[in-house]
Amino acid sequence: MAQRLQMQQAQAQAQQQAQAQAALLRQQQQQQAAMQALQQQQQQQLQMQQQQQQQQAARQQPNRQPPPNRNQQNQQRQPPQQHQPPATAPPTNGGGAASMPPPKDLRPKTEDVTATKGNDFEDYFLKRELLMGIFEAGFERPSPIQEESIPIALAGRDILARAKNGTGKTAAFVIPVLEKADSSKAAIQAMILVPTRELALQTSQVCKDLGKHLGFEVMTSTGGSSLKDDILRLYNTVHLLIGTPGRLLDLAQKGVANMSDCKMICMDEADKLLSPEFQPLIEQLIAFMPEIGRAHV
Ligand code: ADP
Repeated sequence: MAQRLQMQQAQAQAQQQAQAQAALLRQQQQQQAAMQALQQQQQQQLQMQQQQQQQQAARQQPNRQPPPNRNQQNQQRQPPQQHQPPATAPPTNGGGAASMPPPKDLRPKTEDVTATKGNDFEDYFLKRELLMGIFEAGFERPSPIQEESIPIALAGRDILARAKNGTGKTAAFVIPVLEKADSSKAAIQAMILVPTRELALQTSQVCKDLGKHLGFEVMTSTGGSSLKDDILRLYNTVHLLIGTPGRLLDLAQKGVANMSDCKMICMDEADKLLSPEFQPLIEQLIAFMPEIGRAHV
């Protein structure tokens, strides 16, 4: 009897163990299923992310195209063929892009600039580098005032010239100055007097534009700007000095601007410069110069 009881207990224990094992197995299977579901979810998320990235890349594709080559770029940047400058265009050519001539001025011209003798800039036997600067500034032929004055100034004669605004007077005296000055000589060789700071800056720009292949050091000095800066600048080479009479006289009197090699003097708007306000200053300034070739414009 006791034996039967023992056997029944043993069977019950075995059954309990089997049930416990089965429960454990089910739990493990459930955990595995949950893990698989999680992995699937992660994979789906990954795929979605990849798809989104591909779509974004597809949208950005046009911007990623390689940049067009130089020729294509130039074609895109070309101005329209019939480009006409606005009537209010500033009188200077502004320095422009590296070697591109400014757009052709198609406005009707008056005989102040058309009544030429038909001379060419090449007729004056100018330095090649100067001719390059002239043509790159968009000048094709000398204007009447330039035709009249350039050959005389090149011959070293004094000139008093008069012409309307916008007829090319600035280049009429700048071209001979650039031709006759020598950039290999470290000295002030020409002085260009103007009545205002604006005109000084404008004239300096013309000198730089037309003389851009000549290597001249052009300095502008006018009243109202720092004298100390001008003095420091004059410790370095200056070939062409452009400024208002009072300031240039100040620099000459202080011995900072050495005028002993300055054989050319130009006066732009000479009527103003020879007014009682300026005339005494100019006479003192001229006294600092050696024998002079003068161009009064
Ligand atoms: P002015 O001093 O007589 O008022 P500018 O020297 O300022 O005239 O010249 C007026 C404009 O004519 C400027 O834009 C200048 O670049 C241009 N210019 C000067 N000479 C010539 C030329 N020979 N051919 C074409 N344009 C010129």
